[in-house]
Amino acid sequence: MTRELNTEELDKLIELSIKAKEKAYCPYSNFRVGATLLDVDGNWHTGANIENASYGGAICAERTVFIKAISEGQRKFVALGVSTDTRHFARPCGICRQFMIEFEDILPIYLIQPDRSYQKVILKDLLPDSFGPEIMKMSRVTENTTP
Ligand SMILES: [Zn+2]
Repeated sequence: MTRELNTEELDKLIELSIKAKEKAYCPYSNFRVGATLLDVDGNWHTGANIENASYGGAICAERTVFIKAISEGQRKFVALGVSTDTRHFARPCGICRQFMIEFEDILPIYLIQPDRSYQKVILKDLLPDSFGPEIMKMSRVTENTTP
């Protein structure tokens, strides 16, 4: 369930997303990302990217904040904020787009620059014609006969 943010919520989303960057653990890329997720019950969740010496073990800020919220029992979200240190509206990576669309395909994502300017995008516009939970619910033409 999504809805428009009011002015106070948008200000808080921007502020928390910028502040969440401070918790980033990114000694290899030095590319800090902070994310904030507002859920339908009005709870605010924050996360940052966490890298690893085994590079494949890194996790983006977007997945960090989703994992935090989902593991606390939340499934419905209103908006996501993503903040970086660049003068660019950096979009979530492909893995995060797939991860997030599992829960809310029309999720508004606010891409935030250090000067607090932002651009709003909708998740499903970033991942059109995606593979999602509705496909898993479709009837199968053949049965799985793999032993
Ligand atoms: Zn990502």
